[in-house]
Amino acid sequence: MLQQSTMAKMWRRLGIPRILDWPGPLVVMYHGLGGSDGVQVDEFATQCVRLAELYDVVPLRAAVDALGQPQARRMASITFDDGYHDFSELAVPVLKRLGLHATLFVPAGKVGGHNDWDEGQRPRRFILDEAGLANLDPTVVEIGAHGWTHCRVAGLNSEDLKRETVRARQRLEEIVGTPVRLFAYPYGQLDDFDLAAERSVQEAGFDAACSTHFGRGSHLTERFRLRRVGIESYDSLETFEAKLDGDYDWQAPKEKIGAWIRTRRA
Ligand SMILES: [Zn+2]
Repeated sequence: MLQQSTMAKMWRRLGIPRILDWPGPLVVMYHGLGGSDGVQVDEFATQCVRLAELYDVVPLRAAVDALGQPQARRMASITFDDGYHDFSELAVPVLKRLGLHATLFVPAGKVGGHNDWDEGQRPRRFILDEAGLANLDPTVVEIGAHGWTHCRVAGLNSEDLKRETVRARQRLEEIVGTPVRLFAYPYGQLDDFDLAAERSVQEAGFDAACSTHFGRGSHLTERFRLRRVGIESYDSLETFEAKLDGDYDWQAPKEKIGAWIRTRRA
């Protein structure tokens, strides 16, 4: 991580964060909380407080509605991928206490299961079951879809795309009893989804989709590939603030080059 913080310092010294224009809104991304590989809950709480001091923290749906408008720059939204049990156990009490809102992206075919796509790479985390999802307070949490099988959606045929989008949306709507309008691509780097996937998400009736591509804000044209600022378990509060402040914007071109190289190789 030393390398990353060195890059961040260089980037700041060059004054690049001040030059780059991010039209906002800022969307922060978490996965599991606690455990050996998640942001610890007290750190999450401190980060939320800081975020709310700097931004109007709004539900992602409101931030999406404001895309392309001047007020979007002041908005921030909190998102969690993978629908883990620790979200309801650890994050929800913090959000409630601070009066904040978050969007939880759930892989619909894995409800009540665990992160089997991480087998051997990350510790096992359990995904909320139907009752756990249905019991989440809708004033604090909005459920979004994270595909059906948590697979890469780039290059899928139309039938498989429908399973990951239409079927995922239908199942989650059956569980929570409210419209599911937001989507997040599993893995979410620029080579993990393609135009066909974006179109499928749109045709399935979603209003917007999140990538994991780094960025402090998105343009109106990026509605189905919203950028996010990923927060890692090893990020100090200083790093968290530096990410919000643009010191890590160099990650965007780095990720673009990475996606381009992987696409060329494949
Ligand atoms: Zn995921």
